[in-house]
Amino acid sequence: DPRLQAISDAIRVVPHFPKPGIMFNDITPLLLQPGVFKDAMDMFVERYRGTGIAVVAGIEARGFIFGPAIALAIGAKFIPLRKPKKLPGEVISETYILEYGTDCLEMHVGAIEPGERVVVVDDLVATGGTLSAAIKLLERSGADVFECACVIGLPKYKNLYKLNGIPVYILVESR
Ligand code: 5GP
Repeated sequence: DPRLQAISDAIRVVPHFPKPGIMFNDITPLLLQPGVFKDAMDMFVERYRGTGIAVVAGIEARGFIFGPAIALAIGAKFIPLRKPKKLPGEVISETYILEYGTDCLEMHVGAIEPGERVVVVDDLVATGGTLSAAIKLLERSGADVFECACVIGLPKYKNLYKLNGIPVYILVESR
């Protein structure tokens, strides 16, 4: 797709952020180019429109930048999957292991109706740990998780682009 080159070019790689040795993929330059931002959104919308997706679930924080626009365009509801202690209602949570320590995602009880078809959105997939936790959280609520969608995938972890049998769709690979 001819739109992918501009999307890839709009991602800035920042060495040693947030810690020494980490190459951080920064999506904020893409957000400063409305045409490129729209192309990225359009590619997701073209993929999911007409597929019976009832829910877009976005992962805090950068899944909140891309998820709602997709949800609105395809007529789906949006569910935020949040870091602990941010949601005011009753929640279910899923803890997952990071390189150092653990993290956790929470979702409001009752946000999902059993059987609803869901796409999970985040900016980037690396090890897939975050998306796996999101899938578990949604499946525990009876969701039918259709696919995960990320702007960027790290090629180092390419074998993990399929998580718990759920495919991960990425627009571009990190340089
Ligand atoms: P994983 O759980 O797949 O190892 O890591 C993915 C999660 O970490 C995503 O929520 C993503 O936002 C964040 N993340 C890890 N590395 C980067 C990076 O280089 N750039 C950005 N934008 N997010 C990252």
